[in-house]
Amino acid sequence: MAFTGPAEPLPCPGFPSKPSRSIQGEEWKHRPPYKIQTEAEFGPIKWRGKCLCGRVAYILKREKPLNAKYCHCRGCQVAHGAPLQWATIFHKNEMSFIHGSSNLVFYSSTHKSQEYGLPTKVSCGNCRTPIMDEGRNVCLIFPQSIEVEGSNDERRRKMELLRPTCHIFYESRMTDVPDGLPKWRGMENDSDRLDGQGNRIDGPSQ
Ligand SMILES: [Zn+2]
Ligand SMILES: [Zn+2]
Repeated sequence: MAFTGPAEPLPCPGFPSKPSRSIQGEEWKHRPPYKIQTEAEFGPIKWRGKCLCGRVAYILKREKPLNAKYCHCRGCQVAHGAPLQWATIFHKNEMSFIHGSSNLVFYSSTHKSQEYGLPTKVSCGNCRTPIMDEGRNVCLIFPQSIEVEGSNDERRRKMELLRPTCHIFYESRMTDVPDGLPKWRGMENDSDRLDGQGNRIDGPSQ
C-alpha cells in the first residue's frame, strides 16, 4: 500500500537543534541523563516518571522546568499520534534514567536513523512510550510520563508547575485551544502572534 502522507520527513521545527555528528562510540552512555547514578549521587528528587510498561524510569531534580510549550507542528502530531505535543525543558544533568540507556530506543529524524545521534527522539524499546526529545544541550521531556501521587485534582495542581507558557506552530493546529496562553504561528518570539482561532494579532515581538 502506497504511503500517501507527506513526502518530506517531519522534524520538529518547534525545538530546533542543529544536527551534530553522532557521538563516537558509547561515550554518551556515561553522561547524563544516561549515566547510572545512585539517588544519593543524583541529589533531591523532584519528579519521577516512567513509561507505560515500567521498563524505563527516570528521576528529575529540578521542580520547575526551564520552559514548557505546546507544539502543534506536523512532526510532533505524527510522531506522537496526538493533536499536539507538550514538552518540558530540563538541563541534561537534571535528569537521570534509573537503568541508564537500557530499554531505550532512539530515532533521529535528522539522520533518519535509529542509531544514537543528536538530536534524537527517545522512547521505551518495549512499549514505545515517547519519553523525550534529546537536543544538544537540553532534554525536552514529555511530562505525561511523570507520576504524581494523590487524587486527580492533586495531580493536576502539582503539575501546574509544568504548565506550558505558550503554543508554537499554532497555524498547523488540529483544534483550537482557547486557554488564554500566547500563541505563535511558528517559533516563539519569531513569528506572528495568533489568537485562539488562529487570527493574526501582531508580528514577532522585537
Ligand atoms: Zn513540534
Ligand atoms: Zn515501556
